[in-house]
Amino acid sequence: MENKLILDGTRVAAEIKEQLKERVSSLTTQGTIPCLATVLVGEDPSSATYVKMKGNACEKLGILSKRIHLSAEITTEDLLNTIHELNQDENVHGILLQHPVPSHIDERAAFEAIDIEKDVDGVTSWGFGQTSFGFGSYPSCTPAAIMAIMDFYDISIEGKHAVVVGRSPILGKPVSMLLLNRNATVTTCHSYTQNLNEIVKQADIVVAAVGKPKFIQGDWIKQGAVVMDAGYNPGNIGDADYEECEKNAGAITPVPGGVGPVTIAMLLKHTVDAAEKKLENK
Ligand code: NAP
Repeated sequence: MENKLILDGTRVAAEIKEQLKERVSSLTTQGTIPCLATVLVGEDPSSATYVKMKGNACEKLGILSKRIHLSAEITTEDLLNTIHELNQDENVHGILLQHPVPSHIDERAAFEAIDIEKDVDGVTSWGFGQTSFGFGSYPSCTPAAIMAIMDFYDISIEGKHAVVVGRSPILGKPVSMLLLNRNATVTTCHSYTQNLNEIVKQADIVVAAVGKPKFIQGDWIKQGAVVMDAGYNPGNIGDADYEECEKNAGAITPVPGGVGPVTIAMLLKHTVDAAEKKLENK
């Protein structure tokens, strides 16, 4: 990798979707239309936008989008009942519960209620365990997207020092596991990490998953390092300071147009995978 690479997530997503078209069409002719159920609780505008984008992306590809919108007033039990119904529904192949749900709801219990076969967003602890062990189910979509972009651009992972900033269950932790399974040496940082900048300076691969705009500074980036910015903050701003990080990076994802579009493509891919598995097991 000699020249600087701007890692074009829109292009990667387009290629993934192109490959999915044929699979969706083959499933459909066999009488199985892949279907993703999205569950939105409450009226949070960003969550509503994300769910709408995911549903629309499904429909563009011929995947059914079953959109469930529940009132912010529902109880944990109501939400669990909805998830149980979707688990039972033979025509639903994947379930996405948009996060965050209102704070009075036990979000973890709701995630755990999703059938492992339909956990296309990799949110259950069982799914996380399988991801960590390197087999089975679907990893969370953003970590899967980060890996897909690096693979698309042939970025070498084995033996590299990857520093992940963030340890959330849907992002920092699973991407750390995926990198570890690919033989990177992984350091996972969080809000208690001391001398963060010194640690990031040692990284060959930096994953920004911190939820703070422009948090990763340009002078923390080692010359030639790969910067994967999963951040998505209001105003389309990433968790890395793109203009400054780009100066030292050998490869970097922009925001927007980096990890975001590939995250949606991975959700579609996992839904199609789930529909194929269901058909095979019929
Ligand atoms: P999150 O649940 O809020 O987790 C943030 C993580 O960052 C936590 O582990 C936290 O540490 C760590 N952190 C916070 N302040 C820190 C500091 N000063 N130094 C080091 N670590 C610090 O966020 P998330 O859901 O993982 O999301 C992270 C980012 O990814 C956000 O910008 C979000 O919008 C974006 N995102 C994008 C997509 C996509 O499709 N592109 C999908 C999901 C999320 P503690 O654990 O110690 O609190």
